Amino acid sequence: MTDSGSVTDNGSWLIKGVTIPASGKPSGKPSEKQGDVPTSILLSGGSITAIGPDLDHPGARTIDADGLIALPGLVDLHTHLREPGREDAETVETGTAAAALGGYTAVHAMANTDPVADTAGVVEQVWRLGRAAGHCDVQPVGAVTVGLNGARLAELGTMADSAARVRVFSDDGRCVSDPLLMRRALEYVKAFDGVIAQHAQDPRLTEGAQLNEGEMSARLGLAGWPAVAEEAVIARDCLLAAHVGSALHVCHVSTAGSAEIIRWAKSKGWQVTAEVTPHHLLLTDELAAGYDPVFKVNPPLRTEADVAGLRRALADGTIDCVATDHAPHPVEAKESEWAEAAFGMTGLETALRVVQRAMVDTGLLDWAGVADRMSVRPARIGRLTGHGIPLAPGAPGHVTLYDPAAPAEAVTTAGASKSRNTPFAGMELPGRVVATFLRGVPTVLDGKLA
Ligand SMILES: [Zn+2]
Repeated sequence: MTDSGSVTDNGSWLIKGVTIPASGKPSGKPSEKQGDVPTSILLSGGSITAIGPDLDHPGARTIDADGLIALPGLVDLHTHLREPGREDAETVETGTAAAALGGYTAVHAMANTDPVADTAGVVEQVWRLGRAAGHCDVQPVGAVTVGLNGARLAELGTMADSAARVRVFSDDGRCVSDPLLMRRALEYVKAFDGVIAQHAQDPRLTEGAQLNEGEMSARLGLAGWPAVAEEAVIARDCLLAAHVGSALHVCHVSTAGSAEIIRWAKSKGWQVTAEVTPHHLLLTDELAAGYDPVFKVNPPLRTEADVAGLRRALADGTIDCVATDHAPHPVEAKESEWAEAAFGMTGLETALRVVQRAMVDTGLLDWAGVADRMSVRPARIGRLTGHGIPLAPGAPGHVTLYDPAAPAEAVTTAGASKSRNTPFAGMELPGRVVATFLRGVPTVLDGKLA
């Protein structure tokens, strides 16, 4: 909290008339399910101190949360904060402000900064910048290989022992394509319960690739990016994780086939988890028809059938969680010819609304399921203690208040992120993040930074 004019103390907050979604059959409407009775939440001293219908607490500030749902603060496993090195695209301050506005109380910051987060020094710098910004907790991800060069393992143990306590390692943006290095990395992190998060992309099969390989890439004359380039690496890595007995996390699964492979790996009892991005749950490669590079992303947007397969996999738990892959870029990097434009989309400020559209309004997931896929499971995968804890007395005061009945409004490019490359601009999405609490203190109130 940097705004001295707003509430910055550890005073108590009483959230009145809110609905805490209970597990049950997806109905799309939380108020129609049994157990979803409006209640009140008391936040005090950084924690949830009470939940009940008739709470009162003298001196507490009150929020009328009639019609709102409360979720445990969202956790993003995959955020590019760009600092250090690309502060023209994003900073820890602006990226975490965007995260808070999206309902997040913790984000994992990817390692492909400049310098790369491949030493204790850099991960501690990112961690400290996150604490200074104060909008949400920042958990640095460490690089798997020195300089993301895919040649030599970075000092994973040193990063794990640092003040940042790194547990997730990834060369994201690039694939650890060497199977021997991948094996060594998986072996190394076992000692401290770490996880290797793989950006699955066979580099040889995707040389020059621009767009999902299919009808659309053929029609546009853009080099195709075959599904097999992702699926082959995922299959290999699942086998390696099983062989080594270590934990693999698959970043941004984009094809129905990838989900099938993960389903198979999980059926074997292997330690494999996976994430899907909001954009892969909603958008297809058809959008590339106008050659607008705002739709250029890695991995690429796929087909209608892939979107359906990814939604099913998230609904049945094969894919564990939603992760944004928030990838801000300055205007000049996105407003060029398709082939020259940078890969990536922003996503923190719209993720929950996209998930409502793709998963809840379609009846595939209820709000308790959303809490599981966007808070509980990503915190567990990221080894983040103190986040992803279901709302109950004694739990940390990380709470997201969301209005699922807010009328659909067109997404604008204005927001806290320094970059404007949202693929949802102009699209009408339901819902609104009303407030976000971090350790009982609001980071967002009435949809604005507190
Ligand atoms: Zn990636």
